[in-house]
Amino acid sequence: MPSPIGHALAGIAVAWGADLFPGNRAWRTAPRTAAWYARAGNGLTLACVALAIAPDLDLLFRGFHRSITHSFVSVGVVAAVAGLAATRARLPGARIACMCAGAWATHMLLDWLAADPSSPKGIQAMWPFNDTWFISDWEVFPGTERRRIFSASSIRLNLATLVRELALMMPLVLGLWLVRVKTLAGLSSELARRHHPAE
Ligand SMILES: [Zn+2]
Repeated sequence: MPSPIGHALAGIAVAWGADLFPGNRAWRTAPRTAAWYARAGNGLTLACVALAIAPDLDLLFRGFHRSITHSFVSVGVVAAVAGLAATRARLPGARIACMCAGAWATHMLLDWLAADPSSPKGIQAMWPFNDTWFISDWEVFPGTERRRIFSASSIRLNLATLVRELALMMPLVLGLWLVRVKTLAGLSSELARRHHPAE
């Protein structure tokens, strides 16, 4: 299974990728002079990072790992809660529901793509309707070892996974950042023109 760092990068990719879609997104822009946190998308980008990692909090509950929080039902719950919260805050509900649910869903996708040394392998994506465990067997990510994390073999495996995650995810995240900066800069200058047509 991927590390929290791999999952976090996927959450960032969803938040920045969503900003490329046309619609009500002018509120996601920040001037070039703003702090980097604002330019990166503020708390919503951070929320997507947290949501992409959060399904593994089920590790705290023995016997539930990669079931309830790794199923499509949980994606629906996240979409509903995020949509409601956004609408109450007078923000675009459908857009934020898709971003948050998308971030959560990347966790399932990355787990499905990764190697899994445990048994049964994979995730119970159809819980509670079906208790089948799903895994691609493509081993895109080598997997992580959470037991004896300071042993040489665990350190080797976890480092190999981290390197693979950075190699695969960083080009995607950096590419999205560059395109997003361009897209949102165009959007904010268009807004400025609309508000100050004389300039
Ligand atoms: Zn997981």
